[in-house]
Amino acid sequence: MEKIELELLQLITDYSKEKKQIDQHYVDRFFEFVIPNKSLQDYIKEVSWVPYLKEKNAIAAYTLHNKIEISESGFNNLIKEKNQYDSYFNQTEKYLYRLLRFTSSLLHETEHAMQDQMDQQNTGDFETNLIRACLEIPQDLLLQYYNQNPRERLAKMRALKTINTILKNIKGNLLSLCLIQKDRMQKETIKGYILENDLVYCPTEIFLTNTGIQNKLTWFQFDFFDMDRDKMVENVSATNDLQKRLTYGLPISQSEYKNITKHQ
Ligand SMILES: [Zn+2]
Repeated sequence: MEKIELELLQLITDYSKEKKQIDQHYVDRFFEFVIPNKSLQDYIKEVSWVPYLKEKNAIAAYTLHNKIEISESGFNNLIKEKNQYDSYFNQTEKYLYRLLRFTSSLLHETEHAMQDQMDQQNTGDFETNLIRACLEIPQDLLLQYYNQNPRERLAKMRALKTINTILKNIKGNLLSLCLIQKDRMQKETIKGYILENDLVYCPTEIFLTNTGIQNKLTWFQFDFFDMDRDKMVENVSATNDLQKRLTYGLPISQSEYKNITKHQ
């Protein structure tokens, strides 16, 4: 486990032992170790509780002004929301599920701050180019292609991966919680991929080819690009294993797609 995961595990264990509700103190402790660990001092300058967020049903949001806003009502709605899994969970799982969902939101916004950091540092690597392509597009397109957006995908996948690691290290009978987490990861992993007429379209391709000419060029200029889709999968697979391609929303073969979706 990485240091940050150990710290998070400790924080979650502390709260879970006393069945404490999420509060400002939880958020403070979270950012107290996350900001220095990820060197985000210049990217997260303010963390505040707000009555509501612009995006409904969101718990937390990272704004361009280096602020993270957390909505108490957003979280309360989540708590009140009839949890579809409730009947499967024992008491500890019910409590942990909420705590982990909240933590996952904080991690997601932290990832966006790290993406801003990458953009500023401009290393010109693949991920930075991908992030950049997501930053300057009109709001309506952002909403329309939210599920294909590589920036959102990366934030979601990495937050879920961290939650997964923590969950595996929490002691107790958490079988249902672990199964549901696995199921959630599987669904998020394949979200945005489309199988049509025996061809698989990947989310990053859909996003880049639909959000402006510059982004379209970015897609065509990736060194794995090929007009022949089978060749493209072959190219991209040579240096990226399946997990990495799924994380970045890159091409997968039809059999890989079918293999992932057959259990759903
Ligand atoms: Zn996001």
